Amino acid sequence: MTRFSQKLKKIIIDTIFPIKCISCNTEGFWICSRCQLKIATRDEHVCGICEKTITPDGRTCQACKKHTGFSKNRIAILDGFIDACEYSNPTVSKAVHLFKYRFIPDLHIPLGDLLIKAFQKTNLPLPDIIVPVPLHQKRLRWRGFNQSELLANHISKNLLPNSEIEICPNLLSRIKNTSPQMKVKDYQSRQQNIANAFCLSPNIEIKNKTILLVDDIATTGSTINECVKILKKSGGGDVFAIVIARQETKR
Ligand SMILES: [Zn+2]
Ligand SMILES: [Zn+2]
Repeated sequence: MTRFSQKLKKIIIDTIFPIKCISCNTEGFWICSRCQLKIATRDEHVCGICEKTITPDGRTCQACKKHTGFSKNRIAILDGFIDACEYSNPTVSKAVHLFKYRFIPDLHIPLGDLLIKAFQKTNLPLPDIIVPVPLHQKRLRWRGFNQSELLANHISKNLLPNSEIEICPNLLSRIKNTSPQMKVKDYQSRQQNIANAFCLSPNIEIKNKTILLVDDIATTGSTINECVKILKKSGGGDVFAIVIARQETKR
C-alpha cells in the first residue's frame, strides 16, 4: 500500500470508528491525559521470583537468591522486577487487550508512559541496553508488530530527557513457536512450553552490561526467566525486567 492510500485508509477508519478514550469516551485519544493521570503506578514492589517479599525496587530477595544458588554459582536469575500497574485496573487491562488483540499499536505510547513513570519511581540503575522480549516470526506476521518492541522503543527514546538509551531488538530471537502462556494451564507446563525458546545473537556484546528487559504482561514470569537465563549465561550483567502488569499473581 502506498503512503497515500495508507493515510486515506486511516482517515476513513478514524471517521467510521472515531478514536475515543477507553475510559471516559473523550474523542481523539485512546487514553486522554486526565484518565492517564488517574492510572496508579506501584510505589511498592515485591521480589520477582517469590512474589512475596517486599523489596526495594522489586529486587530479588535474599531468600530467593540463596535458594537458587545465586551467590555461589551466579546462577542466572533476575535481579529485579517491576510491574508498573495492577492488572485489575480496568483502563490498564482494556488498553492491553486492545493493544495486543485489536492490533492498535498507538497504545504503546500511553502504556509506555506508564512503564517510564514506574521506572522513574525506583532507584534502579539506568540500563546500558534495553531488550524487548521477542515474538516468533509467525506471531509477528499475525500481529504485524511486536508489542514489547514498541514499548521498549518508547522507553529508549523517552526515559532520559535529552538522550536515547540503546535498544537491541535483535539480541534475542524466538526460535520456538510456543503457545501463548495464558493458554497453558499449570506452572510446570508453562516452564516446559517456554524452555529453550530463545537464542541470542552472537554479534552484540553484552558483557557486564546492565540490561532492562521489556515485556507487555507477565503471567508466571517463565518467559522473562528464560530470557534472563540466556542473557546471563552470555555474560550479561544485572538484568531487570519491566512489564505493564502481572496477569496472574502468586500473591
Ligand atoms: Zn479519558
Ligand atoms: Zn523472593
